[in-house]
Amino acid sequence: MSPQILTDVEREVTELLRTLIRINTTNPPGNETASANYIAKYLGKEGFKTEVIESTSGRGSVVTRLKGTGEKPSLLLLSHLDVVAANAQEWSIDPFAGEAKDGYVYGRGAYDMKSMTAIEIMVMKLLNKNHVLLKGDVVLAGTADEEQGGEEGAGYLLRNYKEKVLCPYVINEGGGLAFPSKNGYVFPVQTAEKGILWLKIKAKGTPGHGSTPNTADNAVLRMNKVLNKLGNYQPPTIYVPTLKAFLAEIGTQDPELKETFSRLLANPKKSEQILDQLAKKDHALAEEIRPRTKMTIAPTMIHGGVKENIIPSDCEAVLECRILTGQSIDETVDLIKGLLKDVGSDKLSFEFIQAHSGSESTMDTELYSTITDVLKEFEPGCGVTPTLTTGGTDSRFFRELGSICYGFQPMIPDEPNDQLEKRMHGIDERITVKNLVYGTSVLYETVKRFMT
Ligand SMILES: [Zn+2]
Repeated sequence: MSPQILTDVEREVTELLRTLIRINTTNPPGNETASANYIAKYLGKEGFKTEVIESTSGRGSVVTRLKGTGEKPSLLLLSHLDVVAANAQEWSIDPFAGEAKDGYVYGRGAYDMKSMTAIEIMVMKLLNKNHVLLKGDVVLAGTADEEQGGEEGAGYLLRNYKEKVLCPYVINEGGGLAFPSKNGYVFPVQTAEKGILWLKIKAKGTPGHGSTPNTADNAVLRMNKVLNKLGNYQPPTIYVPTLKAFLAEIGTQDPELKETFSRLLANPKKSEQILDQLAKKDHALAEEIRPRTKMTIAPTMIHGGVKENIIPSDCEAVLECRILTGQSIDETVDLIKGLLKDVGSDKLSFEFIQAHSGSESTMDTELYSTITDVLKEFEPGCGVTPTLTTGGTDSRFFRELGSICYGFQPMIPDEPNDQLEKRMHGIDERITVKNLVYGTSVLYETVKRFMT
């Protein structure tokens, strides 16, 4: 893009992000319709036909489409419009003012992920303005409700308006922030995410007086056994294709790591010890890999008892489990029940809070190689690697229906990566204006090249 166009892009994408931040879409309650309406109007002025689709009042998603000739499969540029809450007292500036200073835009959503919404809108606008002859449709969707599971946003759209949003290819959040390696930057592209199982376990007992505990059956003690069993369980190590490809790519950056990773891959039963050794040299990398090698089960809430002198008959706990791609919800629940069979299965009951399996897209596609080619032109010598995220995104809804989804918001780190990641859902969330322009440029080039 010419310097003049880049100056215009910088001004427009910055203003767009600042406006999106000012429209408070904290979820709950969301109120994404206000944001969807703003985007519809903004793109409407550029000649786009847009639609705002609400699941319920106030929970709107926005959709628009640039038509292609149909020679190539269509591509969806996906983002979510909602954000998590921000406690203004903890921030150094108003999280919903959309303030721009010292080369940054600050505010809730600056990173996750109103910046990507703004970038995707700019890409649509540029494709249209430059009369790019698209061989496939490029669709834009800004959805409600991702931060609370996405059922009112991406889930709703796919259940009711599949024809408007379902595309064979999707670009979404989850990857793109480069990290430094010995040989320069490596860009992660999210190709897989773990599944989620939030399970409530209730333990039953028989109440009694606290002064004569032997005449009662204490539900808190039963829950203690449950948590002991689960806490001591060592899930098997399984290397999913995305993790193997990740280790291979990082290995090419560093011969010492390459040796460690080949031992890791050859000895899944010793993975914990090998990762412990790696942690002494590179703690961040070891702890990044560890949760990606197995399912995790973490008790996060516990509640039982009503009074000091009553032996409680009920105790409940919540398990936060993250399962690998290829592991099913049913098989995980069976595994947990099996671990607890000695605790008294007649005294335990289980309730789903949230459950969906993991998802993975192959990296063996033209879109993935286009992303790689474009990045290597922007950053000669850089690495590109697929990644598995431990958290979920809206991509799972699309992968379930067969779409190839990549998490890819290209960014160059402006401070250490762990600091940057803390700002997501954290305090003083921000993005550099440079990264808004960079993201727009790389994504525009990727879409243009893939679609022509
Ligand atoms: Zn997000």
